[in-house]
Amino acid sequence: MHPGTTAGGAVGNMAALMVALLMIAYPFYRVLGMLLERTIDGVEATVYFGVLVGFVAGIVTTWGTALGFVLFLMLGALCFGYRLVERVAERGAMDAMDAEDLAKCDAAIQHAPALKWPYDRAVTICRRRDEYERAMEYVERYLTEVGNDTGMQKVLERLKAVVRQRSTGVKVCPECGTENYAGAGTCSECGRALALPTDLLAGCATEIGLKALSATGITLMVAGIVLAILGASTMLVGVLFAGAFSGSVAYLYLRSK
Ligand SMILES: [Zn+2]
Repeated sequence: MHPGTTAGGAVGNMAALMVALLMIAYPFYRVLGMLLERTIDGVEATVYFGVLVGFVAGIVTTWGTALGFVLFLMLGALCFGYRLVERVAERGAMDAMDAEDLAKCDAAIQHAPALKWPYDRAVTICRRRDEYERAMEYVERYLTEVGNDTGMQKVLERLKAVVRQRSTGVKVCPECGTENYAGAGTCSECGRALALPTDLLAGCATEIGLKALSATGITLMVAGIVLAILGASTMLVGVLFAGAFSGSVAYLYLRSK
């Protein structure tokens, strides 16, 4: 019998709904706070709220089955997702600060083009942000300005090496710095695994990849809810929700990186 069709089932569903709503109250409150303070934009909040509400709906429709219990556990894990949203907010604040610092460097360069510190500082910021091409532009501008500077020339060489490695797909071991061929699974020098799950995930971290990931997560979840209401097999609904769960977690994780 489909859960919720008896009086006892209805009471169980109501209780499940209440507990699930209590569970999401705190993360909801935290993320809403970030949204109101404008430390995150609406996209993260919408994805996160959508996923939480979707899982609550999934729990209510499947309550009384083993799947309902599994969804409850997943919702419990998703409740900690507000920490990832917090990291997105922190990164946003960091980006704004970097943009401000770089604007100051640009202004200083405009004012006194031969002064070294604004270039140094801009290069440091760009490197920390993984923007090596932009860092190279600053170094090249400085070298054009002053003609010769051994220190800066070395910096340029190192930046060029990083950009070259990235474009050829050579894998630099994060442990020992050895260059490995593009398809290498482990480092030829120290044996460290070079294709960690997080490295693979990082490959999806483009704007389009992230959008696709969040859209996939939400679509799977909506499909899961619809099929659960229609009384489809627990297995199928479970797979859809598991997909929605991992898609959403991966999205929040990558967004906060
Ligand atoms: Zn190594």
